[in-house]
Amino acid sequence: MLNNKVALVTGASSGIGRAIALAWAREGARVMVSDLNRAGGEETVDLVRQRGGDARFMAADVAYPPDAQALVEATVAHYGRLDIACNNAGIGGATAPLADYPLDAWSQVIATNLSGVFYGLQQQIKAMLRHGGGSIINMASVLGATGFAQASAYTAAKHGVLGLTQVAALEYSSQGIRVNAVGPGFISTPMINRLEQDPATQAMLVAAHPIGRLGRPEEVAELVLWLSSDKASFVTGAYYPVDGGYLAR
Ligand code: NDP
Repeated sequence: MLNNKVALVTGASSGIGRAIALAWAREGARVMVSDLNRAGGEETVDLVRQRGGDARFMAADVAYPPDAQALVEATVAHYGRLDIACNNAGIGGATAPLADYPLDAWSQVIATNLSGVFYGLQQQIKAMLRHGGGSIINMASVLGATGFAQASAYTAAKHGVLGLTQVAALEYSSQGIRVNAVGPGFISTPMINRLEQDPATQAMLVAAHPIGRLGRPEEVAELVLWLSSDKASFVTGAYYPVDGGYLAR
């Protein structure tokens, strides 16, 4: 499906980003795996290679613009082009009522989950314009479309990701770059392990998904894979929930 395409994913040391790297590689893409966490990133690369795929790792902080630039430059230098990118890195941040939300946590979540997507888009779009277009997928959340008490920074950042996605699509779709956002419900990954360990919270989260369970990273990766591919050739500026019915309530 993605034979010889060059794909870049941030936050790919674990969880959803790792599943995306594996899905892309399975379909023939050459994958640049990036994350702050080197050990996890190298492990993702090993998993791709064990399955016969082509991947390499580069450490980069999405919240630091020079890293965003270096990552895209390294991808193009090694693989010759950039066809697909997924701005996936993100953090959960503190939980607290809005009036008491810690300012340092606000800044950190906005820097990673919103500014990080903006910095990535800037670099990815420039590279794709040079090489005839591409597909970009931004990892939002169901909290990009609805609120969640105690998570003001995360909810604001993910709503912002939807706005950035629409603006980028308006500006670049006619030049061959499709830009879409994905909105997972709660997915079992290290990000929400802490929540899952409390039985009452786990039950509350499961009950919020009409399908009756949390999602798996692979279920998000399949949607990202489709949006990455030419099968989604008329899809741009869109937001796709993958949420077990969370937003249907
Ligand atoms: P994980 O914590 O498993 O993976 C996120 C990865 O991003 C981690 O490896 C983390 O590294 C890395 N990361 C954090 N900050 C940065 C940074 N500044 N630069 C580069 N990498 C960074 O989480 P998920 O797989 O669950 O999350 C992936 C994306 O999916 C996020 O954007 C998240 O908001 C979104 N999402 C997740 C949902 C869920 O329920 N799990 C639901 C909806 C959306 P480290 O471990 O070192 O912090």
